Amino acid sequence: MGRTILHVDVDAFFAAVEQLRRPELRGKPVVVGGDGNPHRRGVVSTASYEARAYGIHSAMPLRTAYKKCPQAVFLPVDFPTYGEYSHRIMAILREYTPLVEPVSVDEAFLEVTDAAADPLALAEEIRGRIHTDTGLTASIGIGPNKLLAKIASGLRKPNAVTHIPEERAAEMLRELPVTVLWGIGPKTAARLQDVVRVHTVGELCTVPLAALRALLGDHHGAYLYRICRGQDDSPIVTEWEPKSMSRETTYQYDTRKREVLIDTITALAAEVGGDLQRDGYRGRTVTVKIRYHDFKTHTRALTLPEAIDEGARIRETAVGLLDRFALDRAVRLVGVRVSGLTKTAGEERGNGGLWNG
Ligand SMILES: [Mg+2]
Repeated sequence: MGRTILHVDVDAFFAAVEQLRRPELRGKPVVVGGDGNPHRRGVVSTASYEARAYGIHSAMPLRTAYKKCPQAVFLPVDFPTYGEYSHRIMAILREYTPLVEPVSVDEAFLEVTDAAADPLALAEEIRGRIHTDTGLTASIGIGPNKLLAKIASGLRKPNAVTHIPEERAAEMLRELPVTVLWGIGPKTAARLQDVVRVHTVGELCTVPLAALRALLGDHHGAYLYRICRGQDDSPIVTEWEPKSMSRETTYQYDTRKREVLIDTITALAAEVGGDLQRDGYRGRTVTVKIRYHDFKTHTRALTLPEAIDEGARIRETAVGLLDRFALDRAVRLVGVRVSGLTKTAGEERGNGGLWNG
């Protein structure tokens, strides 16, 4: 029997929450990102649909967004408030099935194969519940797998339910750009365009398997061959386990001072230690990431004989790693990561790591 998967995606989540709690912002271009100051370093987290009309989109530098629409309302990211909304939405979804896989704060997959005789009616009900209970709108995609459900939710945003049945997948995907497919980022898309003149999913389906393997390597080539045909058998993962926990800081002004780097590492190590202890993990490998002003990024890692979760020990290891960087240029960003995680006994899982995607 075929599967039925829903992909629920709240529309313009951060901006929608801001417009919800501040009615005077409704109907206006709202940009949420960084500390809310468009003249400082930082990127757009979410733009309201009114702001998108000016060409503003996620991941765009705030300064660029300001140039496109100086009259937009710029607001800082308020994670605690968005987190509360996220919890309420995930709780609503879990009323319909325990098989919920959150993929970010405002997105989740639901396996409803056994729960829904009429998936369209169920999706409409969930969309209505989210709106009644939170005031937010969501778009919901329905498909025979996660890949197609996710593409479906993006087809008619905002506030819509869209179904891609297996038998109509080829036709519904044909004209879409290849970037709607998972695993095709701007780099792969550019290669496909330059080398095999492929722009759409339909065109990608005409490229033989051998040619894709030659172009992108065996594994990635075979993967693309499957996903452009709408094939995906990845399961819903309800027990989310982090592979690592990390924190990083981008400096407002690039720095060459070792003392500043050590202060930053101390603060980041304390935060990572707090994250690990809160969620009940210890890890053996400590990694320091340094991004220089020219965007060259270097990492140095050390694996310890035993797993740790104390900020002071993470700091000690990370500061030791600092000696293994050249530090011959100004530094733009510093990060500290702990990986090789093992669960400490009897702890509930938290969801703090979801913020990191
Ligand atoms: Mg969303």
